[in-house]
Amino acid sequence: MTEHPYLVSPDRTLDLAGRDPRDRRLFAGGKREGRDQIRALNGRLETLQETLYAEGRHKILIVLQAMDTGGKDGTIRHVFEGTNPQGVKVASFKKPTPKELAHDYLWRVHRHTPGRGEITIFNRSHYEDVLVVRVHGLVSPEVWGKRYRHIVEFERLLAEEGTVILKFFLHISKEEQKERLQARLDTPHKQWKFSRGDLAERAHWDAYVEAYEVALSKTSKPWAPWYAIPADRKWYRNLVISRILVERLEALEMSYPDPEDLDGVVVD
Ligand code: AMP
Ligand code: MG
Repeated sequence: MTEHPYLVSPDRTLDLAGRDPRDRRLFAGGKREGRDQIRALNGRLETLQETLYAEGRHKILIVLQAMDTGGKDGTIRHVFEGTNPQGVKVASFKKPTPKELAHDYLWRVHRHTPGRGEITIFNRSHYEDVLVVRVHGLVSPEVWGKRYRHIVEFERLLAEEGTVILKFFLHISKEEQKERLQARLDTPHKQWKFSRGDLAERAHWDAYVEAYEVALSKTSKPWAPWYAIPADRKWYRNLVISRILVERLEALEMSYPDPEDLDGVVVD
């Protein structure tokens, strides 16, 4: 099988500068055709998610990471449109509370992992503990340096206990981030999303790029692969993620559970 073009290889260090955030090699058509395809994929995902829920066997964990304005919220809205909220959960990880900080960094994460029949989407994740934490030196290199190994083993535990893990890094360019931040400033209904802190983080762009390259390379494993998705075009990002997800779920060959013996049952 040929490797997916956006898979992060476990064997060599990721070079984000060598990946184009506007790449669109997996779809020949334009935005309109792309959106039609996404709608078709939404329909397939809806059925797959219902089967997953009914079968109650597999657990699906989706990790979303990106620079600010990278499109995590939009991905959740568009890729999962039409799925049943009863079986799809979102866990958003913000700055840890004092109570969370009093524990190890995986403590708050583990309890949000999916149960059987569930899809859980991590909007940010334990990866912040080797990203923002590393960039800002919130703990010493001695401490964050060990975390790649913890994370690989944590995800291996989840996988061996029946969790399918897919991780997506939404790769935008620095220019695209500038436009999206400006749009947040200029558009009244987007202003609530703007934070001065985003500008401070933007000043650390290069340090984040390096932290992402290391984190993704060290933790992309067959049981928990990372994909670096070209994300300057929102529709293309949604299309590629929807496809990967649908293909992975279809490979599980799920089916509705056998009904009980219905011979002679009458509803009167
Ligand atoms: P947002 O996703 O815009 O709501 O912002 C959430 C903020 O929480 C981001 O600035 C993250 O960097 C921050 N954050 C998330 N997890 C951690 C963590 N483990 N340590 C420090 N900051 C974090
Ligand atoms: Mg934000």
